[in-house]
Amino acid sequence: MAAATAAKVNGLLVTHLPDVRYLCGFTGSNAVLLLTGSGAVLFTDGRYVAQARAEAVGTRVVISKKAALTAACEWMERTGVERCGFDATHTTVIALEGMRRAVSSKVRRRAFQPVGSMVGRLREVKDKDEISLMRAAAALGCRLFEGMLGLIEPGMTEIAVAAELEYKARLGGAEGMSFETIVASGPRSALPHGRATTAKLPRQGFVTLDFGVMLDGYSSDMTRTVHLGKALPAELEVYEAVLEAQEAALAVVAAGVTAGEVDEAARSVLRQAKLDRFFTHSTGHGLGLEIHEGPRLAAKQTQELVEGMVITIEPGVYMPGRFGVRIEDMVLVTRTGSEVLTPSLKAWIQL
Ligand code: ZN
Ligand code: ZN
Repeated sequence: MAAATAAKVNGLLVTHLPDVRYLCGFTGSNAVLLLTGSGAVLFTDGRYVAQARAEAVGTRVVISKKAALTAACEWMERTGVERCGFDATHTTVIALEGMRRAVSSKVRRRAFQPVGSMVGRLREVKDKDEISLMRAAAALGCRLFEGMLGLIEPGMTEIAVAAELEYKARLGGAEGMSFETIVASGPRSALPHGRATTAKLPRQGFVTLDFGVMLDGYSSDMTRTVHLGKALPAELEVYEAVLEAQEAALAVVAAGVTAGEVDEAARSVLRQAKLDRFFTHSTGHGLGLEIHEGPRLAAKQTQELVEGMVITIEPGVYMPGRFGVRIEDMVLVTRTGSEVLTPSLKAWIQL
């Protein structure tokens, strides 16, 4: 709680649900966790009596008829917490007004202090259990991708591809997908976030698959771009450049390296190939209980990677109206380098 001391607060209101889950294990859809010097208190409602008791082991649980946030703020004042930190990134204006209304005018002015995403920073570095879950989620993702290679064919709709993938994900034990499955084919592969549509896979062209599964709350994330039919020289050239950029970024990942250096490793390869202006997003992101977490692997980011972070490396090149290629791996940062958690084939795949 050094960060809490630095922010001069003696309590912390945790309202972002993945943070609540991370700290106390509770997975319900309505919860506020209040952390004070005397321990943690979880506020939720009557739907979660049994679940809160079963999941939030070791945490005091308060079932409230009032809004959980109001109950937490009243509790906070009653128990003598004078200055309580809250996560400004995840607190709406209306929620903050409600927090202020819940305490007396005596303490209102100084009661709440924005402290940024303290728990988010903690969550960036994964422990052994989290890593083993993410390793399993990534491995399931790889098996699903490999299974899709025998199914994908011209004329199939993108939605049908997504449906097959998601059905098999569930059969494979996934709780659900980490995000809406991206299947972008032909000219649509030039859309970095092309969600599956009724478009039919072409006889000739790329198909980008970007998807992830969730196991026990933890996400995987991977992208492969495969090709249908005979390739054009330009397609091969771009694919090779993206693959080289992706591998260059992977090669520099290690504890102590900055996020910006990893981004630059990918970007400089594409710059040399005169393709950098088509690489319109950052190189990667952390993931865990959420699909996008810190760190952000983008240009000039000075944050250093730490052993135990799980990040993605996903450069792409998108040529509007023509085609696009992205290759994404999920990677564990180690002391001396990295371990790729999604070792599915990345070499050119022609179906
Ligand atoms: Zn992805
Ligand atoms: Zn990603």
